[in-house]
Amino acid sequence: MLQTKDLRKVYTPKKGVPVTALDGISLTFPERGMVFLLGKSGSGKSTLLNLLGGLDKYDGGEIIIKGVSSRDFSQERFDSYRNTYVGFIFQDYNVLPEFTVGANIALALELQGKKATDELISKILDDVDLAGYGGRRPNELSGGQLQRVAIARALVKNPEIIMADEPTGALDSATGKQVFDTLKTLSAEKLVIIVSHDREYAEFYADRIIELSDGRVISDVEYSPDESSADAITYDGDTVSIPAGYHLTEEDRREINEYIDRIRAGTRLHFSGLSKKFRDTDTSKIPPADPSKFSLIKSRLPLHSAFRIGASGLKYKKFRLVITILLSVIAFGLFALADTFGAYNHIEACTNSLLESNVRYLSLVKAKQYTRYDGKISYSPGPMLDDDDISAIKRDMGTPVSGVFVPMAGIPDFGQLVDSGSEQFMEKVTVLADSFSGYCELTEKTLSDLGYTVAAGRIPEPGKDELAITSYVFETFRLGGFATGETEKSPEGTEVPTYDKISSPADMLGRKWRIGEREFEIVGVIDTKFDLSRYDVLLHAEPNESVTEELARFVLSRELTYAQDYSFHCLAFVGDGMIETLLADEPNEIPFRDSNLSFTQASPTTNFSRYTRITPESSRTLRRTPTSYGLTARRAPRSARARPSSPRP
Ligand code: ADP
Ligand code: MG
Repeated sequence: MLQTKDLRKVYTPKKGVPVTALDGISLTFPERGMVFLLGKSGSGKSTLLNLLGGLDKYDGGEIIIKGVSSRDFSQERFDSYRNTYVGFIFQDYNVLPEFTVGANIALALELQGKKATDELISKILDDVDLAGYGGRRPNELSGGQLQRVAIARALVKNPEIIMADEPTGALDSATGKQVFDTLKTLSAEKLVIIVSHDREYAEFYADRIIELSDGRVISDVEYSPDESSADAITYDGDTVSIPAGYHLTEEDRREINEYIDRIRAGTRLHFSGLSKKFRDTDTSKIPPADPSKFSLIKSRLPLHSAFRIGASGLKYKKFRLVITILLSVIAFGLFALADTFGAYNHIEACTNSLLESNVRYLSLVKAKQYTRYDGKISYSPGPMLDDDDISAIKRDMGTPVSGVFVPMAGIPDFGQLVDSGSEQFMEKVTVLADSFSGYCELTEKTLSDLGYTVAAGRIPEPGKDELAITSYVFETFRLGGFATGETEKSPEGTEVPTYDKISSPADMLGRKWRIGEREFEIVGVIDTKFDLSRYDVLLHAEPNESVTEELARFVLSRELTYAQDYSFHCLAFVGDGMIETLLADEPNEIPFRDSNLSFTQASPTTNFSRYTRITPESSRTLRRTPTSYGLTARRAPRSARARPSSPRP
């Protein structure tokens, strides 16, 4: 069913000499069974696997899938082959650490357009010997169990071929064995191709072993259980017996030499694989594929249509969930699920989908990928974008970048200004903004480029201490009122603050807001078209949620946090040039904070932020948007933002 003819792959680096990674590989794979690709590091194993799986392009020869040459394939057909016929398993699990095991699988199911029912999830977990593990979090699992979650996720699309690149590379031998056992079971019905450099495992589990060296096949043997043992090489002490007429393979030669070497070195030889008999592979037994049987299922839910559905405003829960997840996956910067919906063009697919959904800006945050330490997975956000990052983004992507300024001392939250005890406020507090995310300059041009409108008042004038808030921030005051700064006697006789009722955006105008050294006047409310109703589901937790609902809730709350921290919706808009003024207000030394006992070295560049005017023409990545903005945030940690700085020691 899967065949290669004279397959060649040459890597041509920008600098340096081209590397021939595959130098004429001709192989025919069986319908099912466990095939190992063995070889030293750099021999071309991963390259071969990636080509077989359609993850990369080849430079010569051909791949024949079910009797049809992939040369005659359209890109779309190749994508469907990868998306529906092949399940990939990589060394580093690709399990999302924030989700339970069940939710990881639910996510893969939803992305495949399948309904994630608890029954289906249980069945899939059962297939990988993880029955009952649905509620566990990834950081509670061993490496071997995590890898089996990854296998479970690959099984979601019911692939005919499973490809694994060093699936046990990060595991010890006991947990590695569990993974191989699971793959072995699956190989009864599927073709399982495993890249490994572990000969002992290969010989123990393989139905066939293909060995590569310098991009060529140097040996191709299959397990032949029906051969009688009298017919095979036997090893006993310092004697190696080879039956008369036995055809010595390259593999045998290597094994014998290895055996002799070990005896010389005085090591007792324990080589369980040697009890298994391998012979040169006879591919004539593999039935030829019938090309007429070859029908590729169209990818069930390409990103493309998912986003279009989202953009058209359908309210169906399932679609909304999928769209939410996809957006969040992009937001996480984790393309961990790429194998599920096809890794080939996912960046372009996501970009195009965002454009089609009329997404006008992307927030860039520097962060590290999740890492595994001590068997646990953690996600570590990295530092803010610095000058070098900004110039790299502009240079490499041509993407316009706009900056957000967050003062060292932070921006105060709205706590003192609103009546946070009122009932209507409490009811919605989970989804309301509680502080600005930073200052951003706003001009008429920016406003119209972004498609935002003025809900009340006007935009701030250059050089004045004026502020415009967003209509999302306005919502906080609509429900919580605006403190008058005065108090009255409560029925209990204590002095309590009084609040003005805020009903419409116009009620915010003219109000004074002291932030740090400056007293700002609110001159406008800007409608950034934020759909707060999207987060309604966060307001009422159901007692018995299904995994899918749990997933939706998690993803939505994460998305809202990102929206609050890294979008235009929580910004304090100031006039053109104001950020330079605010920078000048910044103290030259950073106050010592007793709360966290850390000391930040002051330097004129570290508390500098930028606001770069952007030219849409220079945009390559976001080429089809008439106007696009990149937003970078530079901010104090949330905990430090609201806190007044303590005096210097
Ligand atoms: P293996 O998986 O057996 O260790 P690979 O298939 O990763 O081997 O690599 C085969 C050869 O191709 C090596 O010489 C490697 O350095 C080279 N190679 C692999 N990927 C790239 C790449 N993206 N760019 C340049 N050379 C590469
Ligand atoms: Mg490799």
